[in-house]
Amino acid sequence: MKLQISFLILFSVTFSGRAQQQIRSSPAFGYERRIENYIDSLRIVDTHEHLFDPDQLIKTNILDFMLLIHQQSYEDLISSGMPDSLFNSLFNEPLTPTNKWKIIEPYWRNSFNTSFNRVVLLAIENLYKITDLNESTVGPLSEKIKMAYSTDWFNRILRDSCRIDYLIQEDDYLTGKDDFFRYTKKFSPWLSVRSKYRIDSLAVMQIDPIYTLEDFVKSMRVVLEDAVKNGIVAIKINIAYKRPLSFDKVETETARKVFRSLVNGNEDHVISYRDAKPLQDYMFYQLLDLAGKYKLPVAIHTGLQAGGGNIIGNSNPALLANVFTEYPDINFTLYHGSYPFGGELSTLAKNFKNVFIDMNWAFAISPTYSERYLNEWLETVPASKIMAFGGDYRCVENIYGELIIAKQIISNVLISKVRDGYLSESEAKTVAKMILHDNAVKFYNLH
Ligand SMILES: [Zn+2]
Repeated sequence: MKLQISFLILFSVTFSGRAQQQIRSSPAFGYERRIENYIDSLRIVDTHEHLFDPDQLIKTNILDFMLLIHQQSYEDLISSGMPDSLFNSLFNEPLTPTNKWKIIEPYWRNSFNTSFNRVVLLAIENLYKITDLNESTVGPLSEKIKMAYSTDWFNRILRDSCRIDYLIQEDDYLTGKDDFFRYTKKFSPWLSVRSKYRIDSLAVMQIDPIYTLEDFVKSMRVVLEDAVKNGIVAIKINIAYKRPLSFDKVETETARKVFRSLVNGNEDHVISYRDAKPLQDYMFYQLLDLAGKYKLPVAIHTGLQAGGGNIIGNSNPALLANVFTEYPDINFTLYHGSYPFGGELSTLAKNFKNVFIDMNWAFAISPTYSERYLNEWLETVPASKIMAFGGDYRCVENIYGELIIAKQIISNVLISKVRDGYLSESEAKTVAKMILHDNAVKFYNLH
């Protein structure tokens, strides 16, 4: 027994230094730097943003240090205890940067550690040479931001600093900036319908009455066909903010019953999610039929939802398995590395040839999660099915900050894979180019 134990100890000491089976021979000296430099030199496809139009931005009173804070950092300020009621003072009143800082300072002190807030610090240090956020820096930083936006800053950061070849923007069209922007489109009004008011407002918007279920489907089709004409590269689904990602195939007559109960009600008629589900599910499948018809890929929000109080169970990508089986010819990409469902995502992308991984926003949520799962995914999932970068931001500064973190994490993962002999140096470089550029070009058919 004693002998067995000492053998086990000897065995674990001998092999504990190596994380994986060595497949490739030891890399040549200096591979770490060469991999980092190669990743830095790559052109990037940014798969997901919500950018403000810079021409509109300069007319608003958000063009100060709060530009970088107002989105994801703001959520962590709220998470750390900031009352929602301060929103109005921060964004609708003409306060000076110092006054805005005084409002958020206690909550920044609570939450300075989060990755959302680290992205901001990295961005202001590298782009504006401001080394911290505090009472004495918010004024000068705000001045520098104003100055920057009076130049070609927006394009310069995206094209030259981030080296972005294509950027996929959700919904909001950016006038006059169409050369490297591509768009996705959401159909939430149809997929989350629960009220007669919703149906009536769609009819008013389209100047076409909606009396029947077929009219309702047609109203969605018209909008989609218009978007196809305008060149959208994918359909986006973010329904996990409102309901679970579990969709049943529904008979037309069952959906019709729900539709009739809605349109025959009073103007303020609203039904519960449970009662609306058959109609919502029916519309979801109608939308996927259209995706198939127009050969559009489908991007689905999975995992952490932005903002407080959301239900994480709604966004578990494993709920979608029946959909992936039902539509083998549609390619689905699951956003945000499905944080925190990385294991589920791993098995879905492995099992279904039409399921792809998109790590957009994941590096801002948690660099450690991104590193852990990219490591696993490179062992479990074909490299051709991983898209590694998208910021999910409204301002270019934070995209820049998140991209620096993403490149560092991707370098760490690939360097460790080469050090362990899992990949050769040249295989690691091939993977980097695939996940940061080529896979997204292919997936979205970008040209
Ligand atoms: Zn987004």
